[in-house]
Amino acid sequence: MRPSLLNPLFALVTTLPGVGSQLEKLYRRLFGREHDARVIDLLFHLPTGAIDRRARPKLRDVVPDTVVTVAVTVDRHRPPPPRRPRAPYQVYTSDETGDLILTYFNARKDYLQKLLPVGERRYVSGTVALYDHMRQMIHPDRVVAEADLAKLPLVEPVYALTEGLSLNQLRRAADAALARVPTLPEWQEPSWVARERFPPFADALRVLHRPTEPADLLPEGLAWSRLAYDEFLAGQLALALVRAHLRRPAGRATTGTGHIRKKLIEALPYSLTPSQTRAVGEIVADLAKPERMLRLLQGDVGSGKTVVALLAAAAVIEGGRQAALMAPTELLARQHFNTIAPLAAAAGINVAILTGRERGRERKDILEKLIIGDTHVLIGTHALFQEDVEFRDLALAVVDEQHRFGVHQRLALAKKGQAVDVLVMTATPIPRTLVLTYFGDMDMSELREKPAGRKPIDTRTIPLSRLEEMIAAAGRALAEGRRVYWVCPLVEVTENTDLAAAEERFAALKERFGGMVDLVHGRMKGADKDRAMERFAVGETRLLVATTVIEVGVDVPEATVMVIEHAERFGLAQLHQLRGRIGRGTERSTCLLLYKGPLGETAKARLNIMRETEDGFRIAEEDLKLRGEGDVLGTRQSGMPGFRLARIEAHGKLIGAARDDAALVLAQDPTLASPRGQALRHLLYLFERDEAIRLIRAG
Ligand code: ADP
Ligand code: MG
Repeated sequence: MRPSLLNPLFALVTTLPGVGSQLEKLYRRLFGREHDARVIDLLFHLPTGAIDRRARPKLRDVVPDTVVTVAVTVDRHRPPPPRRPRAPYQVYTSDETGDLILTYFNARKDYLQKLLPVGERRYVSGTVALYDHMRQMIHPDRVVAEADLAKLPLVEPVYALTEGLSLNQLRRAADAALARVPTLPEWQEPSWVARERFPPFADALRVLHRPTEPADLLPEGLAWSRLAYDEFLAGQLALALVRAHLRRPAGRATTGTGHIRKKLIEALPYSLTPSQTRAVGEIVADLAKPERMLRLLQGDVGSGKTVVALLAAAAVIEGGRQAALMAPTELLARQHFNTIAPLAAAAGINVAILTGRERGRERKDILEKLIIGDTHVLIGTHALFQEDVEFRDLALAVVDEQHRFGVHQRLALAKKGQAVDVLVMTATPIPRTLVLTYFGDMDMSELREKPAGRKPIDTRTIPLSRLEEMIAAAGRALAEGRRVYWVCPLVEVTENTDLAAAEERFAALKERFGGMVDLVHGRMKGADKDRAMERFAVGETRLLVATTVIEVGVDVPEATVMVIEHAERFGLAQLHQLRGRIGRGTERSTCLLLYKGPLGETAKARLNIMRETEDGFRIAEEDLKLRGEGDVLGTRQSGMPGFRLARIEAHGKLIGAARDDAALVLAQDPTLASPRGQALRHLLYLFERDEAIRLIRAG
């Protein structure tokens, strides 16, 4: 249960004065939350900058187009003349050095007369500009009397907003939210806090939301660093708890004889790359240990992870046990099945597939064979988690494309057996700086080189205005017997428009090239999608119009051309994933990135990187630079533990300390029972890593 001290922070924003259900909806949108915008979300929505009103020049010394606060005397009002009611309302003011006109559009006279009474002194803050050699301030941000000067925020935070929500509303809500922050027990080690000169958690939030100088808002500053460290520590603690939990029921050593692996390797039409061999060796060594395995297999698209997984599975099958391979989509599960089945047959391994599509009698059969141990490897989707899926003796769970699954799903699969070893595979190369933060001290194997014989992909960027030429080029490629992916624009959020674009392109290309054109998209039924992929894989169709469903893992080595429309709308990681669908065979491949100009700086940089390199690790590093750490793993969509406050560039250097701290804490206080442990539970709840607390209890 959440410590009651934190309840005010997890209350809805509607509990704050002035925030109704309409505004709550806007806050949801702003925070990217499906339900419930809460006070804590508001507190973690840090300002993006600040307006500095500290400059207090005499009028003579005002630098045009800067924000200033000036003390002026109100000389006279000049309302719009009766015949031109839309003209601005002007208030003439001055100090002993010069004049300033305050200009208002659509202003109410009585309001302005009250705000700026003739003959009085007022402090006016805003941007001064020169019009017709006159100093003017259009709609001053703030006007206060001498008595209220102390209340004028000299450094005013600015927040990211969403349409319909004003800065003032957000500031007021943030004020109210700050007032709800209770005094919390310090969860950080006193000596560390002292050494780093970190303010307490609540103070750090206050400093950031109510800065007294712009430097307070620097990510490297003490306040932000404190919160980032808190977030890292919460993350590292949670990971350490998950890991301790997975390891606790000591694993079972599984050793194989090697005979199935030998047959498999003989059945492969190629030889393993050195890094594949090394990865298999590392995994098999883990399996043989009496400790649970939790290993990440990282490899760029096309680096050949599947066969590594299969060989790992073979090792446990040799030991008389079973393996499961879980993919994020049905398409991928089937593809794994299709790749693995013939190899497995050659090695005498029984493989089955289970997705949402296997039902009734068929499903029953699959489950029966599984529980008696007839099936050695079960491949599937989330369907593998279902209650009634029981193995005879599951030893190894392989989770492909890991970043789409959350920690609890990993755990759920691990629960299907006794002390199941877990191998997670990711095709999104994760920069080294991030591995630690997302996976803690998980062991890692890497496939760094591509299988031999691959030719580099010729990547070009071409303006969309040359679409016709590109269609003609696709036609030539088809005439040469090549196979072409045509990826349609990613239209943000609305899947429907995505689909419309793909369907439209499909219709146009079909008219041009006829029956060899096909379409695949995410809204198609599983079976239809599979059939479309299958037709393309066997060459029955040769131009496949697709949405991003083909992004992950699809493997048709004969496809050598990819056209991506509106490439500027895609993220770097996604472009890389998409391009990874070609260049898988021995033929030369071409990737055409069609963009609509003019390109922004970031989009330009992304496309350039795509042209320069195919190295997924480099692309991931560049991606990190271009958009910050937030989205490298597509955290939002996938529910991976991303960061709300920490910025890798500014705070990355704190991760190591947080990891060591977490390890030390758990070594001394594995159930978080000590006073510091209790305080740390607050921290875990605050950053919503409390799932990990349940693991302590389940322990
Ligand atoms: P990914 O790492 O993206 O999952 P896959 O496992 O799908 O990669 O492998 C991509 C392609 O490379 C497949 O067609 C596979 O048969 C082939 N492949 C895997 N290992 C090798 C190798 N050592 N030599 C040649 N081809 C290989
Ligand atoms: Mg794969």
